[in-house]
Amino acid sequence: MPVIRRNIVPLRYSDPSVVAYVRSPSDWMVSNCGWIRGREGVLLVDTCGTERDTLDLVSDVRKYSTVEMPLTLVLTHAHGTHHNGAGVALRNGGRILAAPTAVPIIRSGPQCNEEIFACANWGKLEPPRPEAVHAVIEPVEVDLGGVVVEVVPFPGTAHTDGDLVLFEPRTGTLFTGDLLSVGSTPFAVHGSIPGWLTALDWLDKMFPDVRTFVPGHGGLSHPGSFPVAVLRTYLHWLLDATASAGTPDFSELATIARRRWPTWTVPERHIGNLLRAHADQHGERLASAEAMRAIRDAAGGKIDLDTLLGLGKP
Ligand SMILES: [Zn+2]
Repeated sequence: MPVIRRNIVPLRYSDPSVVAYVRSPSDWMVSNCGWIRGREGVLLVDTCGTERDTLDLVSDVRKYSTVEMPLTLVLTHAHGTHHNGAGVALRNGGRILAAPTAVPIIRSGPQCNEEIFACANWGKLEPPRPEAVHAVIEPVEVDLGGVVVEVVPFPGTAHTDGDLVLFEPRTGTLFTGDLLSVGSTPFAVHGSIPGWLTALDWLDKMFPDVRTFVPGHGGLSHPGSFPVAVLRTYLHWLLDATASAGTPDFSELATIARRRWPTWTVPERHIGNLLRAHADQHGERLASAEAMRAIRDAAGGKIDLDTLLGLGKP
């Protein structure tokens, strides 16, 4: 029984097909992907953090599409969980689309974050060919033959400084990347809390016809369950909790967050998010290494990905 489950969820069965690839339980290095297949091409949304998980993903995509189809890989942002497998996914060719600020990070290869993770089983994670990685400066439509996918960068800093989303209009499917987490503590250390709130308003305005959200982490969600409103409440709370001048007791606030959102996975992220919120609204610079150390300490030490993900087992 694998530690991490991967569920292939067809949102549209027939050609063109739209598939969400939901990995659970959501954790570090456990994020969602998806793909859309037209008559003339297949578009993959994000990769996985390790070689093995990405090869499993590519194998699943190929079961549902012709191997020879040109591959467009769209990376929602440059966090290792989502882009480490970029070179692996493009071993048989293809191109990558990403937000401009994400491009140099993706070109430089995988992020293994050794300051916070212990992992002996990343596998072989080569960077993609630099010329295969293209910046999406403004909204573009990718025509796959019988289906057109909208790839839309967020113009600002939110979860990171290079987030983009994908919308498939026929099914009303929005692949949000990590602009949305469902049932999993969001991760704001490399972004901006006020900017993320702006991005949520932008999502509502730009994509009023969403029928299914495919979040970066957690299960599929629908507008009726208000996933955007839930996240907005949390981000506002982070700002409220760190609003007063002076240095708050971040550990105590993180404990309050754990009680308020008790079912969310990866609660050690709260303290990093509180540090981010405090820095954002008091005009301070947050050293992300310092925030990552606080998260590591809240987790009780380095996070053992081999055990967490069941890596290194046959
Ligand atoms: Zn992320």
